[in-house]
Amino acid sequence: MDIPALLKSHFHLEATEIVALEGYGSSNFKVSSASGTYVLKVYKDPRLKQGILQTESTVLQQLENLSKYNFPYEIGTVQKRDQVLRLHQYVEGHFLSEVPHTKQLLTSFGQFLGKLDREMAQVDPNPMGIREIVWDLQHFMKNRDLLGHIPEPKARSLLDYFFLQFEELVLPLSYNLRKSLIHNDANDWNVLTQEGEVSGIIDFGDMSYSWLINELAVAITYVMMDKEDPLQAAVPVISGYHKFMPLEEQELDLLYYLVAARLCTSVCNSAYTKTQLPDSDYITISERPAWALLHKWLSINPIRAARIFRQAAGLSPVNSPAIEAQLKRRDNVLSKSLSLSYEEPIPMYRSAFQYMYDTEGNTFLDAYNNIMITGHCHPHVVRAGQRTMARLNTNTRYVYEELLSYSELLLEKFPKKLNKVFLVNSGSAATDLALRMAKFHTGRKKVAVLEEGYHGNTQTGVRVSHYKYAATGGEGRDTQTLELPLPKVFGTELADDGKAGDYFGKQALEMLAPFEKELAAFIAEPIVGCGGQVPLPKGYLRHIYPKVRQQGGLCISDETQVGFGRLGEHFWGFERYGVVPDLVILGKPIGNGHPIGAVVTTEEIAGSFEQGPEFFSSFGGNPVSCAIGQAVLEVIEKEGMQDHARLVGNHLKAGLHLLQTTYPEIADVRGSGLFLGVEIKTAEGYPGTQIAKLIKNELRRTHILIGTDGPFDHVLKIKPPLSFSMQDADILCAAIHRILEHYYTTLAKKR
Ligand code: PMP
Repeated sequence: MDIPALLKSHFHLEATEIVALEGYGSSNFKVSSASGTYVLKVYKDPRLKQGILQTESTVLQQLENLSKYNFPYEIGTVQKRDQVLRLHQYVEGHFLSEVPHTKQLLTSFGQFLGKLDREMAQVDPNPMGIREIVWDLQHFMKNRDLLGHIPEPKARSLLDYFFLQFEELVLPLSYNLRKSLIHNDANDWNVLTQEGEVSGIIDFGDMSYSWLINELAVAITYVMMDKEDPLQAAVPVISGYHKFMPLEEQELDLLYYLVAARLCTSVCNSAYTKTQLPDSDYITISERPAWALLHKWLSINPIRAARIFRQAAGLSPVNSPAIEAQLKRRDNVLSKSLSLSYEEPIPMYRSAFQYMYDTEGNTFLDAYNNIMITGHCHPHVVRAGQRTMARLNTNTRYVYEELLSYSELLLEKFPKKLNKVFLVNSGSAATDLALRMAKFHTGRKKVAVLEEGYHGNTQTGVRVSHYKYAATGGEGRDTQTLELPLPKVFGTELADDGKAGDYFGKQALEMLAPFEKELAAFIAEPIVGCGGQVPLPKGYLRHIYPKVRQQGGLCISDETQVGFGRLGEHFWGFERYGVVPDLVILGKPIGNGHPIGAVVTTEEIAGSFEQGPEFFSSFGGNPVSCAIGQAVLEVIEKEGMQDHARLVGNHLKAGLHLLQTTYPEIADVRGSGLFLGVEIKTAEGYPGTQIAKLIKNELRRTHILIGTDGPFDHVLKIKPPLSFSMQDADILCAAIHRILEHYYTTLAKKR
């Protein structure tokens, strides 16, 4: 292309200097000449561009009303057979990206955009035709096809979470949103400033007839990048805009999701562009800050964002229901036997990966809810449920793919001998069934359990749960239940090098010996959760399992809490001890919050059970549950969650051990992967119930969720969703550190 010749013949311009500029959609050149500075744009496909170029001309004429500002006014346009040449005025100034973002500058940015949109609303958008570009947030969902270009599965899931929220929350309301012609790309490399105020804008190439609010969504997205407090950075832009183009409540309430959508559009297209133009850094310029903001965005409660955005525009605040009123309603309809966590209960509203959002606008870092193993509302899991529920929900008396493929996939995770699965709806139902099968298979009734163990809320579950039957008001030990001491190494003189396992193993066998002909099963968790995250000692099960079998009983591993990779080194807890159980109980994380439970067992035991009455569960193994269960397994695998649990768990454990060197209250740090316990004691060496309670409640006040358990409720339980990151581990340790430091300097002294 002979640019000087083109300029001369079509625009009578003698260029003194021509510099190629970055851009997509057209080739751009900065042209210097004696008469002034210009930008020449050369469009390749004249048919595609005709509509938009015509609208752009009209818009630029309309913008002459805004004489205070600079725009790339059109000098002339030449249509050729295979291209369109358009000469614009060059717009002077520093880009918004190059100057400090003072409040004055950001307010002027908002005001400028408000005025711009007021003028653009006067222009008939029709000549532009129906143009669907992926940068128009109305068509955001089109970008979902680009997810495959994001190499990191975890990052892909983060983006897909926002696609899902857009489908759920924005699209259903889209018909109510005002539409207008908007610039649609007020990013910091298109907006110009002079002397601390916004002075103009360039590049109308993404102009769209779209939801008006998208103008602001795009603008604040870039303003918020690399800001310590992104929401506060958006405030002056919104208030400036609102002054000239008044906003509606619904628009501001959706802004959070529209910003997320713009960020996702940006990173999806960067990822795609990298595959097409690996050397271009123009389109990928925002990639790093966009990712950083996306991660930060997730930690912001959408209600908080909506509140701040509404306040910026001076609109009425978002109201949340009063917790007192909710507690009263709860009292009216629910029994007090359903307990609430915390002195100040939390009114929960939404959740995302390792975050939970309350109705007040707070974000909680979840270090406690192990059920959400893949992360709260993981999009792959949610979509699996939605999709299947919209198609077929039935029961195991019919043949359908979901049941077959899920059962096959789940059983692949087990040693070969465990090759039959029974699907139910809870861990308790699984415990009940496992014990029924054990009793049926052995023709016996007695079950050996561990002190402090918990296995379910059914009648049978409670009978084998010392944690319940021995609790205040509990029904006491059933005659068929044999109670074995909790083999807790901490607090003994024994080392966990096999000696403790020997000691507790032999002790248990002595206690079981008199029941040689009566034992149906031995049931235990690999790490006893309700006992205060107590790992069974090494070698313990190697004593128990063979002996129980020799006596004709079966061995049951309750993997409800620890299963599915949480332990890091192992997918199942029993693998930690080199044993293979006869029956395995699964629950909690198996469905990432969807009610699923399962018993996995051998062909032989299943075969005995077949001799009894038919087994049927109305909901166990339904296609929706199976699809969800399968999605959970797929996410754990694809996102490398087991290894992540190992790495983050080790890091967190090291952090907690470090705290232990400063605070003698931390008596023991134990567990594996992201299933940890921190035992707290008083200065006098007693169980630190009150200190543990204080830590839990103070963490809640700093918006971190953990639990407490153990016989004296003196053990901190840490078992987060596996999206919990290294940084989250640091945040948790720092918070415990602050609480104990404060406890030391104030409370402990007072005692
Ligand atoms: N076993 C163990 C080890 C558990 O922790 C639980 C639940 N806390 C259950 C069984 C019962 O599961 P669910 O609450 O799903 O009935």
